[in-house]
Amino acid sequence: MNSYVSHLECAYSGKRYEPGTVHTISEMGKPIIVKYDLERVAAEVSRSSIEDSKEPGFWRYAPLLPVASKQNRVSLGEVVTPMISLENSASVLGVDSKSVFVKDESRLPTGSFKARGLGMAVSMAKELGVRHLAIPTNGNAGSALAAYATRAGIECTVLCPDNTPEINVRETQMQGASTHLVNGLIGECGKIIAEGSGEMDWFAVSTLKEPYRIEGKKTMGLELAEQMGWSLPDVIFYPTGGGTGIIGMWKGFKELIELGWIEDKMPRMVSVQSTGCAPIVRAWEEGHEFAEYWENAETISSGIRVPSALGDFMILDAVRSSGGFAISVTDEQTLDIQHQIGLREGLLLCPEGAATVAAYRNSLESGLVSSDESVVLFNTATGLKYPMPAVISSIDKNNVEFSVFKSK
Ligand SMILES: *Cc1c(COP(=O)(O)O)cnc(C)c1O
Repeated sequence: MNSYVSHLECAYSGKRYEPGTVHTISEMGKPIIVKYDLERVAAEVSRSSIEDSKEPGFWRYAPLLPVASKQNRVSLGEVVTPMISLENSASVLGVDSKSVFVKDESRLPTGSFKARGLGMAVSMAKELGVRHLAIPTNGNAGSALAAYATRAGIECTVLCPDNTPEINVRETQMQGASTHLVNGLIGECGKIIAEGSGEMDWFAVSTLKEPYRIEGKKTMGLELAEQMGWSLPDVIFYPTGGGTGIIGMWKGFKELIELGWIEDKMPRMVSVQSTGCAPIVRAWEEGHEFAEYWENAETISSGIRVPSALGDFMILDAVRSSGGFAISVTDEQTLDIQHQIGLREGLLLCPEGAATVAAYRNSLESGLVSSDESVVLFNTATGLKYPMPAVISSIDKNNVEFSVFKSK
């Protein structure tokens, strides 16, 4: 089998690059994206053949993915992630919440949506004969890379800032990566990887520094469209760090429209950040094309603690041209809503996912979104990887006071 890839191009200048060899960033230092022969896809592939696919999870979209040979697909049993309504949360959100959906990415291998991007990047590395991968990470990307690289028999080195949540560092090591803590920020980990590339012969899969993670993330959008009967919601709230999720979905929607598989009506894309690290929100508010570095980034939502994103102009373009907006929430609002949703829905969101719920609630209050707009919020990882409040009630088995069990 061959892929439908026609060529690659610089996301900023459009300069063409040939497929079939290893690429990093473009001559201009911008991300390189994958282009497909969509006319041929439209002629040879139908929506119903996708619907009938027996391939696991995102591999059902193989015609819109870059991997040419099926034997290079690296799989750990991906699933189509469910859409879960926040049906018990009307009082928290102030809307009829039965039609507010969370797309729950926590069900993917390694417990986060990073599995999509890194599953794809590792599969392409296998196809192109790359033998050693390296990544700087604040957490979930490291464990996803470790899992897929190990599965593929590719060596893998992961560098984490020494304040990365311990569980992410440990799971990464347990899944076969050579794992190291660095007394610096993620950018400084990336610098070590860049400097070592020659001597170590490793290939960096840092966010947007190779073309294929976006292609994996794009499948969130393809999946969403198929799940909604080949249509899209009015508004999407997405927790934004490096931006591959928003950029990927936006790219996927455009491809679906070009194929004629969905109507030409894009959702408003909302980029959600934390007030402790909100470079995209600031750039959106100030009307800038690029985002400035965010000094002293600090938030409990470690997946979106990204002070500078290579694809900033692509995130801002998706937000602006969709009529969306960028919004930040405080960690207090995030933790509060995470708890409220857990209590009401039995759904343990990660802080990044909870941030989208808080942002949605705030946007309803301020009128940025109206209650009759259909909404999908993304829960990007499992809440199990993050600290949780301790249980303080303990019971003496020899002297049980049943009054403690009475609900308040
Ligand atoms: C990486 C990450 C994000 C941000 O992802 P991008 O698509 O790169 O902006 C959000 N949430 C979690 C849990 C993450 O691990």
